[in-house]
Amino acid sequence: MKSLVFATKNRYKTSEIRSLAGLSFNILDLTDFDIVEDLPESHETLEENALEKAQYVHKITAMNGFADDSGLEIDALGGRPGVYSARYSGPGNDSTANIAKVLEELEHKQNRKARFRTVIALILDGKSFLFEGAVEGTILLKPRGRDGFGYDPVFQPIGHSQTFAEMSLSDKNKISHRAIAFRKMVQFLKKRIG
Ligand code: IMP
Repeated sequence: MKSLVFATKNRYKTSEIRSLAGLSFNILDLTDFDIVEDLPESHETLEENALEKAQYVHKITAMNGFADDSGLEIDALGGRPGVYSARYSGPGNDSTANIAKVLEELEHKQNRKARFRTVIALILDGKSFLFEGAVEGTILLKPRGRDGFGYDPVFQPIGHSQTFAEMSLSDKNKISHRAIAFRKMVQFLKKRIG
């Protein structure tokens, strides 16, 4: 069975991709290696950051692997917070402060359209490939729901009456940006090496 390294320390993300990949590939992550440092994210696009992280981990492990980068893109804010989603209100990835900043910036705006977008960069036998997933939605006036993470309490996907934070994890994973991008990569891998 082929092994791939996922450039993340987040076990939640690893189990999500493992459940999508089934038993076709063996997926390792950074907790299986002695990689304790933060991965580089020095660029201004999700694509470049995903590629940078995938290349960094490929260099260290000499294995095929992939990395993801996601962000919330709000139309009325010109696509912000985007690649800066985690650190929008400052360092530390404080979701409450990030949400407060977004709601304040949207206070007098009519257009509350937004999307979550994920880009995955895969490095396979020396070549790189990108996969994208997006989910369109609306930023609510006030947070709703207790589950999830990040901007989930203020993001309501189009066609749904619940925010991401009000959905069960399995319902969110059926429609999420990350799941869409993961599924595209898994389909590609199954054709290629499956
Ligand atoms: P990452 O690239 O997956 O680490 O995502 C970067 C940041 O985007 C996170 O820290 C969150 O602030 C935001 N984000 C990404 N995906 C989601 C999601 O599914 N729900 C809520 N916020 C998210």
